Amino acid sequence: KGNVIDGKAVAAQIREETAAKVAKLKAQYNRVPGLAVVIVGVRKDSQTYVRMKRKACEEVGIASFGADLLETATQEEVLEVVRGFNENPDVHGILVQLPLPKHLDEQAILGAVSVEKDVDGFHPLNIGRLAMKGREPLFAPCTPLGCIELLDRCGVAIKGKRAVVVGRSNIVGMPAAMLLNKRDATVTICHSATKDMEAIVRQADIIIAAAGQPQLVRGSWVKPGAAIIDVGTNPVDDATKAAGYRLVGDAHFDECKTVAGAITPVPGGVGPMTIAMLLRNTADSGERFLSGKLQATPPTLPKAVVQP
Ligand code: NAD
Repeated sequence: KGNVIDGKAVAAQIREETAAKVAKLKAQYNRVPGLAVVIVGVRKDSQTYVRMKRKACEEVGIASFGADLLETATQEEVLEVVRGFNENPDVHGILVQLPLPKHLDEQAILGAVSVEKDVDGFHPLNIGRLAMKGREPLFAPCTPLGCIELLDRCGVAIKGKRAVVVGRSNIVGMPAAMLLNKRDATVTICHSATKDMEAIVRQADIIIAAAGQPQLVRGSWVKPGAAIIDVGTNPVDDATKAAGYRLVGDAHFDECKTVAGAITPVPGGVGPMTIAMLLRNTADSGERFLSGKLQATPPTLPKAVVQP
């Protein structure tokens, strides 16, 4: 496939490694890692993601726990469910499917997840540690982690390289930039107010495109040989498809492919990596708990720290 990175194959490899780890834990402790997925409401895309996550757990031997709350669930009801999973010794990872209905306080709910079980890496303490020198989060967010893993497994060096991240969302762009910074890349973050983005992107050895804008990054913006990790998954109308649409990335694939040293396709690039990293995070967490490295105690952090 030349310079096209096969995210599906890399993800399959990580799932296999995770299944092996889970089997080893089971043999050693007669217990398996457990993941709890909390979903509130009826968003179709969220329901699909949650179904995929539960099925993926099953495939690698991770026990799956679920809570499906009504669209009308109150803040306290959601917090109660999260606290229940925090205290459940069979649960080693807790994931709250986003976005939550508008009447809920998303940050407060993410902050209520036990930091030791925060497999999505969205807890402010884990994000804070990601930002600090000399500190390591227990978990980093799965999509950006998947981007780094793709670079590593495709032999793209990070240390000392110029990386440009397009987008600065809490779930993708910002943590991607933090992870690259931890790996000693020289990182620039572009966002919707950035001027002359083209000139900035052109300096990049590594481009992480996560703006949610179809085909934003053009071939002419890319330094020859650069690696492009395209996080964007944007539906665009396509009458030739049964669904009436197809997915395109934030990079113009056909143009960029001719210039880039390596590029992820959409779909089949970053997409499959997100769930693979979630499974790995959960297995790692299970290992920490089951081996006794971490005690399964409810969080003892002061409320002011836990809830920003
Ligand atoms: P978001 O809308 O929360 O954030 C987009 C970011 O891009 C913002 O920081 C904004 O400032 C920036 N941006 C928007 N327009 C821009 C422009 N024209 N130029 C420069 N910057 C611009 O989106 P998100 O949640 O970070 O997701 C980004 C994309 O990644 C979406 O297409 C989403 O569907 C996709 N996504 C994929 C996966 C996956 O593959 N597993 C996971 C999460 C998100």
